[in-house]
Amino acid sequence: MSDRDGFIWSDGKLIPWREANIHVLTHSLHYGMGVFEGIRAYKTPQGTAIFRLPEHVKRLFNGTKIFQMNMPYSPEVINKAIIDVVNSNKLEACYIRPIIFIGSQKLGISPKGNSIHTAIAAWEWGAYLGEDGLNKGIRVKTSSFTRHFVNSSLVRAKASGYYINSILANQEVTANGYDEALLLDTEGYVSEGSGENLFMIRNGIVYTPDLASCLDGITRDSVIQIAKDLGYEVREKRLTRDEVYSADEAFFTGTAAEVTPIRELDDRSIGDGKRGPITEKIQKTYFDAVYGRNDQYKSWLTYVK
Ligand code: PMP
Repeated sequence: MSDRDGFIWSDGKLIPWREANIHVLTHSLHYGMGVFEGIRAYKTPQGTAIFRLPEHVKRLFNGTKIFQMNMPYSPEVINKAIIDVVNSNKLEACYIRPIIFIGSQKLGISPKGNSIHTAIAAWEWGAYLGEDGLNKGIRVKTSSFTRHFVNSSLVRAKASGYYINSILANQEVTANGYDEALLLDTEGYVSEGSGENLFMIRNGIVYTPDLASCLDGITRDSVIQIAKDLGYEVREKRLTRDEVYSADEAFFTGTAAEVTPIRELDDRSIGDGKRGPITEKIQKTYFDAVYGRNDQYKSWLTYVK
């Protein structure tokens, strides 16, 4: 990531990639309080389009509000900055990473007296869980690490420090050959993957955990809309891991992971152990939406030019 040409938006201006550095005493580096986004832009027949840009910027600003980080920029400025980053790096399709963090004037738990910084980078990034994963499904293992509890982590914010929990879970299961981790909440109900929301299908009904301990995923929201438009009933409710074991189909959603089928959970095949037919329909409609092939979802696209 370090040595490459291109530009990063840093506190109001585009600067060369190699010069976008921070001090080692940056508060957020030590204590983990920062908020960020993961956004994708796709190459569509009408040009490069960012998927659900206003919703991502809204979640970013919600995070700054939750953490009382005083953002010096408006959402409109950040929207435009994100578009500028894609254009200045001449990217046709990319992953975009805005991050808001606390400066280095002063260490100590209280962030008071520190400046708030914003950086936005973008780079090319393929399928997060592999092309094979998108087609055939992935193998998932329940982690021994519990997901965030609502009164210790405020998960409507997509916060940097929260990802220690994700990394622990992901490291644990990938070390044993699985593709991704599933985390349960403090009561043992299904929460989400290390960087994805979970869906399952039983008897033609689409289920996903309600929003308590999991991130309010923008792909989750898109998939709920798509599933309803395809005529499926969608239920948001607490799910147990054995409900997933006995589901007909399951899949993960996320900006990076897109719609990735789950073919196995805890060494049990889900359904036929491959991408299920309803998952395939939802996945196809999702890709049609992000690639600008379905007019029904054109309001989700922001063209960069
Ligand atoms: N859960 C977690 C923990 C995540 O990191 C992500 C990725 N941002 C998601 C769910 C999916 O969210 P989205 O669809 O907005 O990318």
